Amino acid sequence: MKPSQILGIIVCVLLVIIVAGCTDSKTPPQQPATTEKAPIVEQPTPTPTTEQTTPSSSVKQPAPSTDQNKEIPAASGNLTVHFIDVEQGDSILLEHGDDTMLIDSGEIGKGDDVASYLKSEGIKSLDYVVATHPHSDHIGGMPVILNDFPIGHFVDSGYPYTSKTYENMLTTIDKKNIPFSTPKRGDKIDFSSGIDIQVLNPGSTYFTDDVNQNSVVLKITDGKVTFLLMGDAGLEAENAIMQDGYAVNADILKVGHHGSRTSSGASFISAVSPAVSVIEVGEGNDYGHPHQETLDRLQKISKVHRTDLDGTITISTDGSAYSVKTQKNELYKEQSLRPVEVELIVLHLPHQLQKQSQQEA
Ligand SMILES: [Zn+2]
Ligand SMILES: [Zn+2]
Repeated sequence: MKPSQILGIIVCVLLVIIVAGCTDSKTPPQQPATTEKAPIVEQPTPTPTTEQTTPSSSVKQPAPSTDQNKEIPAASGNLTVHFIDVEQGDSILLEHGDDTMLIDSGEIGKGDDVASYLKSEGIKSLDYVVATHPHSDHIGGMPVILNDFPIGHFVDSGYPYTSKTYENMLTTIDKKNIPFSTPKRGDKIDFSSGIDIQVLNPGSTYFTDDVNQNSVVLKITDGKVTFLLMGDAGLEAENAIMQDGYAVNADILKVGHHGSRTSSGASFISAVSPAVSVIEVGEGNDYGHPHQETLDRLQKISKVHRTDLDGTITISTDGSAYSVKTQKNELYKEQSLRPVEVELIVLHLPHQLQKQSQQEA
């Protein structure tokens, strides 16, 4: 689906609402001007070149043809995942060699902070940008990102949502001719050599009652180490992913919906069985995130990191082990495969880390 097609659906939905709202008894029943009635629940028609629809029974699907021109580097070096502190909202950066992916951009007004962070990492362009879903705490910073960085490919949930922020974002993507796709459960994203990225959500049909449930959920595997990034997906999406038979186990979980109780169900968290849980959340937010029962559930089985307490959290892996670094300069290393007895080697190396980050900048 193209950005213009989603915009078209949004316009159609608005038209239907306006037509319905304007009908009075004196007016004879009329056909709407457009014959393309596009209810929000309608399954989008896939565009063959940019996306694939996947039968839910099949786990193995070829990657969408999204990245034909990229020089494939040798599978070496670390995968680094940055959970950027954008207060209440999400923004996650993936780096593997020269390959980069930004997942969400924080709230309106946070785009400059995210852009500065990317620039401090030496990033001048982004291979992929993912908008997990159109809420402003995830796409609010996109105007800055779209303006400041050439973007190789844009990935979107494709769920039609009527907000100026979302419509403007789609319009900009369209104007800049950025390749755009709306992958579905089972699709793969060809991000970087040796890194497997599987889309676990949305499914082949959208949930109609909650935009959060249609979040793009990504399972990222480098060797033995797996990250599961939930966006704001909640209980319904969690159940659908498991019912469709997808393995959700992961070493590192980016907790759904800022630690809300509407996500992270008991059976799902037990299936994921993370060793590290990351919550992107703002101090004193209006929603009471993270909710205590969710925290309790996560803390029983994992080490919980929160951007409101830890600042930006960076997790780096060579595919067999990973290390966690936070702005508070805590560094620990852990073997993969989610040991039942979590063994943490905690090293406090504030000076070294500061030097490291200066060199990286
Ligand atoms: Zn959110
Ligand atoms: Zn949301």
